Amino acid sequence: MISIKQVTKSFGGHQVLTDVSLEVPKSSVIAVIGPSGAGKSTLIRTINALEPIDTGEITVDGISIHDKKTDINKARLNIGFVFQSFNLYPFLTALQNVTMAPMKVKKMSKEAAEKRGKELLTSLGLDDKFDAYPNRLSGGQQQRVAIARALAMDPQVMLFDEPTSALDPEMVTEVLDAIRKLAQDGMTMVVVTHEMGFAKEICDEIVFMADGKIVEQAPPSKFFTNPDSERAKNFLSKVL
Ligand code: ATP
Ligand code: MG
Repeated sequence: MISIKQVTKSFGGHQVLTDVSLEVPKSSVIAVIGPSGAGKSTLIRTINALEPIDTGEITVDGISIHDKKTDINKARLNIGFVFQSFNLYPFLTALQNVTMAPMKVKKMSKEAAEKRGKELLTSLGLDDKFDAYPNRLSGGQQQRVAIARALAMDPQVMLFDEPTSALDPEMVTEVLDAIRKLAQDGMTMVVVTHEMGFAKEICDEIVFMADGKIVEQAPPSKFFTNPDSERAKNFLSKVL
C-alpha cells in the first residue's frame, strides 16, 4: 500500500534521511520509533509530500507521490494525517471540523457529511460533543476529533506523528484505543510513537530509526526481546 524506496533527503547540507526503504502492506500497522532527531517525523511527512525528497520514490496505492506529474492534492485525499498538535479549526464545532473537508473538497452534501461525521464522532466516543468548540474539549477529545476529521475523507492509509505526545497521561489511553480500533478494522497505518506498550501490542512491525536510517525492522516479539543492533538495545534500555 505504501512503498518507500531508497529515499534520501537533506536539509541544507545536513542529510536527515539516508537510503530509507520501507514497505507497508495493506492493513498492516507499522510503528516508527527511535531517538529524537532520528528523522521519524521527516520520514512520515515525506509520505504525503509535506516534505520533498532528494532521491528515491514513494508510492501510496500505486500513485507516485513525488512525481511532478502527480496531482498531490488529489493523492493526499487518500492519506489521513494526524499530528501531535490537534490543529482543529477553533471557530468550528467538532462536527463542523469533521464535515468541512468532505463538503468542500469532495462536494458531499451537508446531510451526507453530517451523517458520516456523526457516525465517526460516535464511534470515537464523542456522541455528546458534536456541537462543542475545540476550546471546550480536552486534549484527548480534540485529538479524537482530529482523527475523525482525517477519517471523514475515507483515506486508504493513516499516518500518525506522535499522536499522544501532547496529551496528559490520563488521556493517552482514549486516543490509543481509537487507533487500536482502526487497526482492528484493517486500516493501513504508520505511527510514530514513544508508546512502546502500544507499539508492542498493536503493530505488525517495528521500524527503529537512528541518524536518518532504518537501523532495524522486526516484528515486536523479536524487536522488544531480542534486537540485533547495539543502537536498538541501547535505546530500549532507556525507554522500557
Ligand atoms: P523527535 O523524536 O524529536 O520528534 P524526529 O525523529 O521526528 O525527532 P525529525 O523531526 O525528523 O526527527 O528531524 C530529523 C533531523 O532533521 C533533525 O536533525 C532536525 O533538526 C532536522 N530537521 C527537521 N526539520 C527540519 C527543517 N524544516 N529544517 C532543517 N532541519 C530540519
Ligand atoms: Mg518527530
